[in-house]
Amino acid sequence: MKCSIPYKLSLSLLGFLLLATTASHADDAKDVREPLTVVATTGMVADAARTVVGDRGVVIGIMGEGVDPHLYKPKASDVRLVLSADAVFYSGLKLEGRMGDVFAKARERGLPVHAVTAHMDESLLLEDEEHPGDPDPHIWMDVEVWSLALQPIVRVLCEVDPAGCEYYRANAERYRKRLLELDVKLEAMIGSIPSEQRVLVTAHDAFRYFSRSYGIEVHGVQGISTESEAGLSELNDLVNYLVKKKIRAVFIESSVSPRNIQAIIEGARAQGHEVVQGGQLYSDAMGAPGTPAGTYVGMMEHNGDVITKALGGKMPTNEAVSDSPSEDEDPRAS
Ligand SMILES: [Zn+2]
Repeated sequence: MKCSIPYKLSLSLLGFLLLATTASHADDAKDVREPLTVVATTGMVADAARTVVGDRGVVIGIMGEGVDPHLYKPKASDVRLVLSADAVFYSGLKLEGRMGDVFAKARERGLPVHAVTAHMDESLLLEDEEHPGDPDPHIWMDVEVWSLALQPIVRVLCEVDPAGCEYYRANAERYRKRLLELDVKLEAMIGSIPSEQRVLVTAHDAFRYFSRSYGIEVHGVQGISTESEAGLSELNDLVNYLVKKKIRAVFIESSVSPRNIQAIIEGARAQGHEVVQGGQLYSDAMGAPGTPAGTYVGMMEHNGDVITKALGGKMPTNEAVSDSPSEDEDPRAS
């Protein structure tokens, strides 16, 4: 399915640029620096930054488990964190709509504040249909495209801490390989769902990149941003669609109220069609730290598992990508 999509053509080139844009700074023998403090917004961005930073610093994620980034307002403690960081990374594409003032203040002070999506090729982005001209920000739902978010992280860290550049580059490249493995695995999982059941109904429209990449039709009850509310007629249309297509499961999301999904299940039941709540997906926030879904790879594997099982697909037999890599390979193992 993927090879027919033009946006994939530019991906291999962009992945290569990850290697090419970082200069070599191998000599860090006289390294007597303070550990870096890096601040990130969502769990997905923090996870990418943490992987690259490794043991040369700490990464503090502002938005934890179950937090909706569309609606998140920075607290006074977040402002202090951002203003005292060595580098700040956010997802961008208007995802963190209420963080703009804090970022502007940090930039005024000369701090490096960067969206990990800022230089992604426009051909990779989907449009927010409700707000023409705006991109859909949920880019992490396409694992291969999300691997490009490592590039600005490496570039900025190399500027902030040149002695660690080679280390950051190596960490990013190792992680990128894991992500590409995960991408292949998700494609196989979703592809195993019988085609007539390959329909993903979730609480809000966070899965359009997932749809494009892994070949599953998607319907979000709320729009791209959770700031828009679903109308009654939209709910009814979706119920009728599910009944007509005999879709067997719909899904809640950890960062969005399950209210609308419950209404859909009840609406279908009233028409004599039993649709189950297929499980909780992680859309805009990862799971709790220390749990399998508390990393980006684990979160996406969880989503793949839940969707595949509930819609009647077969799980692949190969091992989980998130199975701990050997300790000398994982910068977070120490
Ligand atoms: Zn969202």
